[in-house]
Amino acid sequence: MSEFAPYAINPGNSRGRARREPAPVGRSEFQRDRDRIIHSTAFRRLEYKTQVFVNHEGDLFRTRLTHSLEVAQIARSIARNLRLNEDLVEAISLAHDLGHTPFGHAGQDALHQCMKAHGGFEHNLQSLRVVDLLEQRYAAFDGLNLCFETREGILKHCALKNARVLGDVGERFIKRRRPSLEAQLANVADEIAYNNHDVDDGLRSGLLTLEQLEGVAIFARHIKEVLQEHPKIDPRRLIHETVRRMIGTLVMDLTRESARNIEANNLRTVDDVRSALPLIAFSPAVRREQQELKKFLSVNLYRHHQVARMTNKARRIVHDLFEAFLDEPQLMPPQYHAAATADSARTVADYIAGMTDRYAIREYRRLFAVDEI
Ligand code: MG
Repeated sequence: MSEFAPYAINPGNSRGRARREPAPVGRSEFQRDRDRIIHSTAFRRLEYKTQVFVNHEGDLFRTRLTHSLEVAQIARSIARNLRLNEDLVEAISLAHDLGHTPFGHAGQDALHQCMKAHGGFEHNLQSLRVVDLLEQRYAAFDGLNLCFETREGILKHCALKNARVLGDVGERFIKRRRPSLEAQLANVADEIAYNNHDVDDGLRSGLLTLEQLEGVAIFARHIKEVLQEHPKIDPRRLIHETVRRMIGTLVMDLTRESARNIEANNLRTVDDVRSALPLIAFSPAVRREQQELKKFLSVNLYRHHQVARMTNKARRIVHDLFEAFLDEPQLMPPQYHAAATADSARTVADYIAGMTDRYAIREYRRLFAVDEI
């Protein structure tokens, strides 16, 4: 039996790279993609970019780097069980947030506002731009020259007007077709990872309480189970044990339901996947629970006043940096000057999107504080 299911992506049915390269030795094409992602500058910067909490708020909260590693871990276990291409799933998972701005969604919204008159800013599109163009490390090409399937997986969403100018990876948004199962899986694994680690970080930061979360069905049934088995458990272990069981339940449910969908659709090829409905999915009951949790987090954590205070500051930093650089592109480091001559707004957006939280704060101080140089 082949390592891969017939509906999985494998190096034999891949659409390959934009620039042809000799086949890799001792590793697969998708392992090579993963390796290029890990060695990229944008990947290293994820360590200092916010997921929910700004990097300096605490050393134990998730950053975009640890988030991406958790996504890869979850996605790989499910991929193995479904006989999908684990290397591809890993590559997509590790790259999916490369285009994120500093300060999480606040930064992204602010940059989008600034870029409204210049084509807008989407972090998914930016992740693709990073791997297609902005990483400049290889002698023969700009970007990482990744396989089509890895790029397709990175571009989770995309507005139609952008899809029209993207060529091969934009096609599916126009034709309303699905990406590979590997891409679908990385996308859902992202959701599993952040819902659960945000519960964990929310509790440890004190912004969320156990009492509040006991009103959320999926949390309530797992914490109850832990307390029944371990009535004297200490609070820290209780949180971790509950979260770990929630992840377990979601992973099992997603694996089972997706396997059932794959079977029911009688999938034989990757093309069958592209013309089917989304197949990597939770069962209806678990999906409802997930949505409830998501909504809870959005109201109680993402809009918590302490988070909002930082969000507000972040918005101002991004906005003021953008205005200053657009006004005077020469304020950016010299390597951006040539690109700024061609399209100054996009170059400023690329520069700001590439910043880590602390770099953006430092840059802000350097530009606007009179006592700093
Ligand atoms: Mg993510």
